[in-house]
Amino acid sequence: MEQLRYRGRFAPSPTGPLHFGSLVTAVASWLEARAAGGDWLVRIEDLDPLREPPEAIGQILHSLNCHGLFPDEPVRFQSKRHDAYQATVEQLLSQGYAYRCRCSRKQLQQHGGYHPAHCRTTQPAHIDAPCAIRFALSDEASYWQDLLLGPQHQQVCAERDDPVILRKEGFYAYQLAVVVDDIDQGITHVVRGSDLLDMTAQQQQMFRALQALPPQWLHIPVILNSEGQKLSKQTRAPALNDTQPAANLVRALGALGQTPPASLHTATVDDVLAWGRHHWQRQAIPLTSQQAHGINPNTHLPPDH
Ligand code: GLU
Repeated sequence: MEQLRYRGRFAPSPTGPLHFGSLVTAVASWLEARAAGGDWLVRIEDLDPLREPPEAIGQILHSLNCHGLFPDEPVRFQSKRHDAYQATVEQLLSQGYAYRCRCSRKQLQQHGGYHPAHCRTTQPAHIDAPCAIRFALSDEASYWQDLLLGPQHQQVCAERDDPVILRKEGFYAYQLAVVVDDIDQGITHVVRGSDLLDMTAQQQQMFRALQALPPQWLHIPVILNSEGQKLSKQTRAPALNDTQPAANLVRALGALGQTPPASLHTATVDDVLAWGRHHWQRQAIPLTSQQAHGINPNTHLPPDH
């Protein structure tokens, strides 16, 4: 069988500016794509305007530019893709892979995740109140291979785990949009944080329902702050300092288990990225967040600010 050309992507949700943890993911996905001689794309997952400060997209794209991470194709914005998501929701509904759900989060909690209104099996002829649409999962023991973490086993439970694909407020959900766009953009390899590992078996079922080949996944450890929390907007991760991009990149390489020499601290962004490309070792990426935190004594970390 002919080998598909490698196509990877970095797909941030613009809930705030880029922080160190998201830079590590961007760098890992860029290096994997470059090591394979493939394409690297950027996709802004702007699905939820209520959680996205308007300035965040510009800040993220500016930061990526400052760090020399230029995508090989124009940036894609999920906010411009509603027609494709709607068409997919309708397709899934008509094929019995999706259903309208009126249960509140509280009701689902009270019933251990099962639907008191039996939405999956009993679709009312007419629904007048806004409702969510969920993907109908199948019960499955899913076995798959992560390119870093090795063999994975996930148990998927029909009904109880069924993810929302269109929220009742009218927003398309991450689980739907990520699969639709990975298919549409011909993504062959996904590098992302291991906080999304649990989503993978569900996403595989969606690829199957849409009769598409799933990509291969590589989940890197999430970067923790000094209190052991994932760097994120919620944990008030500081924005990257775009005036010291080479130093940020050296730190990111260190967090990925690579051993950049001290001389790179005074190098240019292009030099650091070139070093990363030539010395990239996937097998050196730490497997856990604890290992990724403060590893690599050869890398003297510059202060964050
Ligand atoms: N948009 C997601 C995030 O920022 C990443 C999606 C993915 O890589 O699958 O967490």
